[in-house]
Amino acid sequence: MEKTHLKTGIFGGTFNPVHIGHLALANYLCEYEDLDEVWFLVSPQNPFKKNVHLLDDRIRLEMVEAATAGYPRFHASDFEFSLPRPSYTVDTLQKLSETYPEREFVLIIGADNWAKFDLWKSPEEILRKHRILVYPRLGYELHIPDKVSGCVKAVHTPLLEVSSTFIRQAIAGGKDVRYFVHPATFRIIQEKQLYQLSCSV
Ligand code: ATP
Repeated sequence: MEKTHLKTGIFGGTFNPVHIGHLALANYLCEYEDLDEVWFLVSPQNPFKKNVHLLDDRIRLEMVEAATAGYPRFHASDFEFSLPRPSYTVDTLQKLSETYPEREFVLIIGADNWAKFDLWKSPEEILRKHRILVYPRLGYELHIPDKVSGCVKAVHTPLLEVSSTFIRQAIAGGKDVRYFVHPATFRIIQEKQLYQLSCSV
């Protein structure tokens, strides 16, 4: 008998910090698409592309853990922290599939990334081995060519155009933007006094 694989959406990002745009999107995909879970894969700092705005890997992970803890279908993952850097999606998906053979990994990307998917490392291999869910982003047309429509699906999620950059800048400017992040994430931001200096945004 064929084994049923747990359908696991992979949602990667720097999550600096994770916000309601990320959470609402992943929540929608769990409830309206055939995903059992969504894993938030926190991207570690790329040593070759030092980003001064990027908070420590562990703190970003902690904020994702806090935001995702209350919903059993969400999982915060540090899987890429132990992979060679920079980590390419094709390699991460390969390692994930080897490590968790009982799961089917479905890639979740925005229309912005889909528009340049051809430039990624080994796009054909990703398409051969994985399904992709593409969600809309403001300002990007979402077109799925017929030849890949079997494995790539456009999902019509409601758009919440919030960005981490907006949140970092708002906090540095002394604004109280608590409703743009999960309360547990906001608590960490306050306790650790994150993003307070304008040079860190
Ligand atoms: P920054 O402003 O620092 O660039 P961001 O808000 O875009 O950050 P990322 O951590 O880069 O957040 O996002 C991870 C993934 O989530 C990216 O692929 C990005 O396209 C997507 N994303 C970002 N904001 C939203 C949003 N409001 N709704 C849905 N997806 C989003």
